[in-house]
Amino acid sequence: MSTRWFSESLYPDFKQSFSISEIVYEGRTEFQDIIIFQTQRFGRVLALDGIIQTTEVDEFCYHEMIAHIPLVAHGACKKVLIIGGGDGGTLREVLKHPIEKAVVVELDKTVIEICMRHLPSLSGGAFDNPKTDLRILDGLTYVRETHEKFDIIIIDSTDPIGPGKALFSEIFYRNCSKCLNENGILVTQSGVTWMQSDVARKTFENLNNIFLDADFFLAQVPTYGAGFMTFGWGCNNKISKMISRNELERRMSKLNLNTKYYNSSVHRGAFFLPGYIEALKNIR
Ligand code: SAM
Repeated sequence: MSTRWFSESLYPDFKQSFSISEIVYEGRTEFQDIIIFQTQRFGRVLALDGIIQTTEVDEFCYHEMIAHIPLVAHGACKKVLIIGGGDGGTLREVLKHPIEKAVVVELDKTVIEICMRHLPSLSGGAFDNPKTDLRILDGLTYVRETHEKFDIIIIDSTDPIGPGKALFSEIFYRNCSKCLNENGILVTQSGVTWMQSDVARKTFENLNNIFLDADFFLAQVPTYGAGFMTFGWGCNNKISKMISRNELERRMSKLNLNTKYYNSSVHRGAFFLPGYIEALKNIR
């Protein structure tokens, strides 16, 4: 019997492919194509519009980093806004912290429903947590119109293609910054820098136009081929990023997080960038 393969369609000149053991779900939502398939190496895999979003086996690398870096750096976060993140992995990690409320603004309710059904370990019950306030809405509209304020905003969006495109614009980040409390932090996925340097460069430029401290931090996510996953960082103070080792250890021991990727050494190291990524911050 011939093997069926899923080939990601993110780049015109580079493909990563997964051998499919079984198609678990395939369809079209109001906004995007969705497929969940079973693989041997990565468990179940979610793709939207042909682009890998997450897998059961390596999702922790991305979700732990996009959540714990800003939450631990802030140190006293009470309210979190997640934009996108329909698989629930970021929300699950955010709820490991003693916060009061997490608002999730996701465009596509079908992604949430299908992920809860077929990838239940991703959200792990997080959408039923009483601290979760789910709004089915475009993130662009939400930050333009809301009067709510947050300590942390996490933009866990699809790539800048289709409905996710607006979530990479300067006006969107500017409206996000108006929703942040003093010492608030915004983080956003800004692509796999080796392959999407233009996305990372533009994200940095936009954040740098708005925040006193704009930067990147990194994670290695095996199924985001090929290279480091880069996250944009925006904050109106320069100290949140530079907490001392002792203070970091103090916060970590109080939190007692159960993590597989994130730890205090990774936290500090994530802001040390290879030269080719550091160079993307040189704005002409
Ligand atoms: N970790 C993933 C990655 O980097 O590829 C992102 C995963 S999560 C599934 C992305 C979510 O962003 C999707 O569920 C999608 O529906 C949502 N999304 C895309 N555009 C959006 C928008 N304008 N407002 C709110 N959510 C949006």
